[in-house]
Amino acid sequence: MPTDEFTATHVEAVSPVALRDTVEALASFHTRHTDSPHLKGAAALISDRFTAVGYPDVDRRPWSHAGHGAHNIVCTKPGTGDGEPEIIVCAHYDCRMEDLADATARAPGADDNGSGVAAVLEVARLLAPVDLSTTVRFVAFSGEEQGLWGSTAYAAELHAADSDVYRVINLDMVGRPPADGSVTVERDIGNAVPGNDAASHALGAVMAQAAAAYTSLPVKLGPIYASDYMPFEAHSDITVGAYEGEGNPHYHRTSDAPSTLDYGYLAAVTKTVLATLLAEALDGVDAARSTGAP
Ligand SMILES: [Zn+2]
Repeated sequence: MPTDEFTATHVEAVSPVALRDTVEALASFHTRHTDSPHLKGAAALISDRFTAVGYPDVDRRPWSHAGHGAHNIVCTKPGTGDGEPEIIVCAHYDCRMEDLADATARAPGADDNGSGVAAVLEVARLLAPVDLSTTVRFVAFSGEEQGLWGSTAYAAELHAADSDVYRVINLDMVGRPPADGSVTVERDIGNAVPGNDAASHALGAVMAQAAAAYTSLPVKLGPIYASDYMPFEAHSDITVGAYEGEGNPHYHRTSDAPSTLDYGYLAAVTKTVLATLLAEALDGVDAARSTGAP
């Protein structure tokens, strides 16, 4: 991907300070376990932040599953055109302890997954004044840790309403780099619907190129696995993810604190997602924006 000035300017504006602020705000809730009364406060914080950066259409959508229930936060940015599949940029905002049933222990969930939510909010902030050809939905899911409950409900809701295909970019643990400093771009390999793999790999290639063009992150390729893209994949959507990879010793522990993250790394992953969105959603106006022509 050749760099272009429009994208470079927006990518440079990604703020490690803003990312850290969101992670710390989310981690300040005693826990964001889906069955905890604290989760509502986290949902309000996320929805308030979408509103604060200029989005009028922010919806707290309830879901329920086997006697449990919470809300997904959906912030919709309407596109200026149509014809291209809408893009969902998502991350789960709930968290857990080692014992999944423990809804009362201290669980800051900074990397898992305050980091992903912070990246989604930062991309939304920077794109608020930018016209995109494609509608983008920024979504924060709950119930992920219990079994993708929130995302399963939302994917079903979308696909009951229309027969569209959606493109889904999911961020789950993107704040603590592995030893080699890489990000793993996850693509769909088989799963419920084999027919959508090629489109997923193509979108993953755009994401890998975005990382190469706008960051110094080494990219690894991996499979989508066990996070909120899976229910969408099962509805034939085109899914990819960004992931730091395995190895965070604080995973699902009280020690998953904001101080254990690398905000330069989180910023680089955020830049990758932002550049991917601009590459996908500004398609067709590349010539005008890369030359700076009026
Ligand atoms: Zn997670």
